[in-house]
Amino acid sequence: MPISTSEIRALAASYPRPLVVGTVGSHAALDIADGAVTEGFQSLVFAEKGRDATYRQYFRTILGLDGKRRRGCVDEVWTYGTFAELAEPNSQERMRAGGVLMVPNRAFSSYVPLATIEERFRVPIVGSRTLLRIEERSERENYYTLLAKAGVPTPKPFSSPDAIDRLAIVKMPHASRRLERGFFTAASPTEFRTKSEALIARGTILPDDLTAARIEEYVLGPVFNFNFFFSPLVSRADGLELLGVDERRESNLDGLVRLPAAQQLELPASERIPEYRVVGHGTLTVRESILEEVFRLGERFVDATQERYPPGILGPFCLQTCLDKDGHPTVFDVAARIGGGTNVHLGLGHPYGNALYRGPMSTGRRIALEIRRASEDGRLAEVVS
Ligand code: AMP
Repeated sequence: MPISTSEIRALAASYPRPLVVGTVGSHAALDIADGAVTEGFQSLVFAEKGRDATYRQYFRTILGLDGKRRRGCVDEVWTYGTFAELAEPNSQERMRAGGVLMVPNRAFSSYVPLATIEERFRVPIVGSRTLLRIEERSERENYYTLLAKAGVPTPKPFSSPDAIDRLAIVKMPHASRRLERGFFTAASPTEFRTKSEALIARGTILPDDLTAARIEEYVLGPVFNFNFFFSPLVSRADGLELLGVDERRESNLDGLVRLPAAQQLELPASERIPEYRVVGHGTLTVRESILEEVFRLGERFVDATQERYPPGILGPFCLQTCLDKDGHPTVFDVAARIGGGTNVHLGLGHPYGNALYRGPMSTGRRIALEIRRASEDGRLAEVVS
């Protein structure tokens, strides 16, 4: 049985103070920690043994003699053998006793099983617990079905490899690195077969994943990830904010496109197929005449989540888009939580967030601000699920 929102909200209403902002140590944890301490909270990172030095050592908070932070933004680190252990009953108890609010990032929803989060993780999540599952492309109801209901343009799907009549992208997990991508492109059924056979032989993808793969039109255009924030604390008309835009650096796709065509052709066949492993992010703004359309898509997404997954989206979400040749965004992926690229906002904020708040406003800080406002107004229950 899924944990009800009302149960979590009752828990949040009687939560101990001071509140602590916790998140899983990966993804955009630094943005979350930086935002938390900027807004006056204690920050806590849940780290996995062997991959905790970033938080425990390099970004840990160092206090001055006056007790104020002199350096760093990670106040506390709880280290686990594996991330999944953070959902164990004694760990949850420790979080509740310590007034910890969990800010979900992709690491949280990847390393803690979704069923555990939905049915057994009795800690207030700042955001939308039920929406985390829509990111799973293998689910019957996922972000594609939600976007279709919302009337948000998505890349045209192909029902089978034989239906491919233009450049398509085939989406499935990597064979061994299951959290990474085993994507490839094909412009015809023949190319689909040749490439998929080569990738299976090379151990990049698995035949079973190929059968279940999503095949969709490849949108030729730059990628813009729109980092939105939705607040339920203000009127619906004022709820949606665009805080920033990021783009990704993907390996080895970005390496390939930095080579002139002649050099690309000199590569052995096995190195010519791009991989889409996210290795970093950059920051962007979008042509101003495109902004209104971007906001319309954001509003439709919010409406659709409120209808289909009440109470709907809470806090940050990211619409990942390609802009086509006419400048129209097509949404090819959604993060119903903080996006993966918001470290580009870290500390400095982003031009859009800063323009809204007249000072540095990152996604991490905006989350903490929401917690602070909600808490001060006795409305903490409304921003958690
Ligand atoms: P995703 O796993 O959906 O976030 O996609 C990973 C990467 O694949 C993106 O950053 C894009 O570079 C690329 N991509 C995904 N879907 C499409 C699409 N329909 N058209 C063009 N590029 C895409």
